[in-house]
Amino acid sequence: MAEEQDVERREASAAGDSILLTYNRLIGARLYLHTWIRLFVAITIVVGALCAKYLMGIDQLDVLPLIALGVLIAGYNVVAWYLTRAYRSPERAGEAYRYLLGIMYVAIVLDFLSLGGAVWLVGGARSPFLAFYLLHVILSGIMLSRRAAMTLTALAYLLLVILVLGEWTGWIPPRLPEGAVGGVGKLDGRYAVTILGVYALLFGLTTFLLVGLSELLRRGERELHDANIELDRLSSLRRDFLHITLHDLKSPVGAITGLMQNLRAGLCGKLTDRQAEWVDRSLKRLGGLSQFLRELHTLAALETGSLDAEAKDVDLAGLLHELAEENHDLAQARNHTLTVEIDDALPAVRGVRHLLKQAVENLLNNAIKYTPEGGKIVMRGRALPGAVRIEVQDDGIGISAEDQERLFEEFSRVQRSSKLSKAPGSGVGLSIVKRIVERHGGRAVVESQIDQGSKFIIELPLAGR
Ligand code: ADP
Repeated sequence: MAEEQDVERREASAAGDSILLTYNRLIGARLYLHTWIRLFVAITIVVGALCAKYLMGIDQLDVLPLIALGVLIAGYNVVAWYLTRAYRSPERAGEAYRYLLGIMYVAIVLDFLSLGGAVWLVGGARSPFLAFYLLHVILSGIMLSRRAAMTLTALAYLLLVILVLGEWTGWIPPRLPEGAVGGVGKLDGRYAVTILGVYALLFGLTTFLLVGLSELLRRGERELHDANIELDRLSSLRRDFLHITLHDLKSPVGAITGLMQNLRAGLCGKLTDRQAEWVDRSLKRLGGLSQFLRELHTLAALETGSLDAEAKDVDLAGLLHELAEENHDLAQARNHTLTVEIDDALPAVRGVRHLLKQAVENLLNNAIKYTPEGGKIVMRGRALPGAVRIEVQDDGIGISAEDQERLFEEFSRVQRSSKLSKAPGSGVGLSIVKRIVERHGGRAVVESQIDQGSKFIIELPLAGR
């Protein structure tokens, strides 16, 4: 029920208050832009009148009144510009919405009146500029709410009726500068009726079609806006949930691990072989769980905050050698040969060393895990123009083209390789690699072929690039 009322309220506001096709908070920016457009129109009227008289030779043109009209348009737009210039940003426009709305209505009414004046000076009912009425009707149909657009269209039509009937009855003296308008005789009644009929139809249809269209667009825009807010809410909910869960899980897992280690060390008496084996298995599983929590923590930490404060020049050659040394035993346990190839004078990159190390280590661990025993693993550091490339290549089981597409997504594991290697994992490692590399302005890609091996590539831009 409350939801229905909310929808009704928003529908009502769309029909009444909402005045812009684009999101209401852009009203300030729109108004500001329109004042510039009208200033341009004012200059065009002045220049156009002068050109028409002195270049084109339309002698009967009322140049002075047209210049006065141009100055008038420029005048009220300078005022509008002054009044709206502080509200160009969506934040400021939101707070002064009603005020800006008022300025907008006044400016549009003045536009219609000025247009009426300009059309009268250049031929009235027979003016080639009559079509500009239609342009204004189109603009109000797009920019205003249904009620306002219809009211202003009616006003535009009323002005037209006054002009045409006024000229026909002789109540308004016709201004017919020869050369600017077709016929200069007395206005034919049939022509006046035709003009009024045609324009009634044009105004009516244009407003009807445009108002419907812009209502639809406005509704879509509102739904998109609401969906964005909901997405933001869900995203922060997910972040909070992750932080709280990690925090609440880390301490008990740490405590249980400590207690199990004490048990294993015999602090509560000597264990039988079977008991020791079970405790070892439990500790191994706990190790896996701790590792997973650490990965999730890194992933969560990478979502927020800037890396700038921690960034330093990182010597990648040193980092790769260090990783090779630290993972030597792990590789040897699976009989892999692990080598490092570094280009001469590999430049340093700007970044957070422990994060970059973690990214490359994830790739190295995968290469060790997903390569059958006795494999060949190479880590390379290459200097590229403006960037540094790190490669971790193995001759392991490889990844199909189809699986490569979603490899860097969170929790993505490849059935085949996980089964073949029986390697434990959570599918988070590569998404951490991607996020770390992207936070450093770089990119991570993979080249791989089934049963041929895989090459994971990280490219990092040099500082200042
Ligand atoms: P995890 O290794 O924890 O499952 P990752 O995100 O590090 O998670 O890797 C995702 C999946 O990509 C792995 O489960 C594995 O199937 C596949 N994979 C990653 N590296 C390799 C590699 N070097 N060779 C073959 N498959 C790999």
